[in-house]
Amino acid sequence: MKKENSVRTESREHRMRKGGNKMENITRPYERLLRYTRYETASREGVEKSPSTDSQLVFARALAEELRAIGVGDAAVDENGYVYGSIPSNVPGWKGTTIALLAHMDVSAASPCENAHPRVEAYAGGDLPLGGGVVLRESDFPELSRYAGKSLVVTDGSTLLGADDKAGIAEIMTMAERLLRDDTLPRGDLRICFTPDEEIGSGAELLDLARLGADAAYTLDGEAFGGVEYETFNAADAKLRFFGVSVHPGSAKGVLRNAVLMAAEFIDALPRDQFPETTEGYEGYFFAEGLAGTVESAELHCLIRDHDAEKFAARKAFLQELAAKMNQKYGPGAVELTLTDSYYNMREKLLPAHQDLIDAAYAAVRAAGGQPFSLPVRGGTDGARLSFRGLPCPNLGTGGGNYHSRLEYACVEDMDRCVDMLVEIAAHYAKNQA
Ligand SMILES: [Zn+2]
Repeated sequence: MKKENSVRTESREHRMRKGGNKMENITRPYERLLRYTRYETASREGVEKSPSTDSQLVFARALAEELRAIGVGDAAVDENGYVYGSIPSNVPGWKGTTIALLAHMDVSAASPCENAHPRVEAYAGGDLPLGGGVVLRESDFPELSRYAGKSLVVTDGSTLLGADDKAGIAEIMTMAERLLRDDTLPRGDLRICFTPDEEIGSGAELLDLARLGADAAYTLDGEAFGGVEYETFNAADAKLRFFGVSVHPGSAKGVLRNAVLMAAEFIDALPRDQFPETTEGYEGYFFAEGLAGTVESAELHCLIRDHDAEKFAARKAFLQELAAKMNQKYGPGAVELTLTDSYYNMREKLLPAHQDLIDAAYAAVRAAGGQPFSLPVRGGTDGARLSFRGLPCPNLGTGGGNYHSRLEYACVEDMDRCVDMLVEIAAHYAKNQA
């Protein structure tokens, strides 16, 4: 705790050095987060429009207005609900890498988000009762000990907080305000983009890269402050259809072919030590996510995930072999497998070509008083898709945790440090490139 205190003091002094008293009336990111949680912005799967929900559009318009009010004059919402804005460099004759900072406006539909009642708690350590019997337990989340002596934004336990990813938006907004208020902070050309529908996996699709006009980007969509993520899963969807032959069970012998049992047989052939609940770190998995069927036909939905490209390919081949074996056993056409790749590990696009993005983020975290760390993401990010679309885009922590849950929290002081980190990144890319 002592260490954290000294870190905080350093960070504040650092800020004073750089910004002086011009920073006095800057809205703090947690204050913005409290305001943003009033917008109910859950996205919805299976809707053929962007954004998938009108509530996101309401939030987008408010954010564009706020950006304009703090001096991002060109901030606007496009026809798909994306908010774009730019901050020109304040370095004369600047020629360097244009960096975009991205965060998503929607929240997960996994927990309720309506009528959130956020509050700020001075966290002394130990268990933190949120309300309605919901308790944030240190034994469940040992990382909480890191926040003892700091302040946490939490809800009353009836909804999620939406710090994923409104904390990211609040930090980018606060960075913009600081940079535009204090011209002694050097910066290259910067772009800001707030995206819809990240939680349903379509946030990166309609991002207009030409309009954004950036050379590289960061998503602010990670959890703890200091996290610099540049590895994601390779991901594919496997859809299996099993075709049975239905006859009266009384006269079924040698004729009936039960699609339900075929699906069960297929699931049973999957290695149990390679499921989400039995793997961690760099271990990939098969996830039997959904199953529906009758004797005549059954449908099984499986997810395939692996950080390693070769193992990823081997997993897909394994399912193809399984399906082929069942077709041998039950007759041609008994099983149909459709494999669709969803996204790939962004590391392939980031390293070694864009090592500087990682190095700059590490240096910025340290300058903001933190300790950078990188963990493989056991999922995807919008940045992974964007990296494959040509915009290299690692992901940075936003100072919160327990995303998608009623137990979600954001740390007030760490959100400040995330803003410090962004100001440092802006300064790094203010340097002219030869
Ligand atoms: Zn997120």
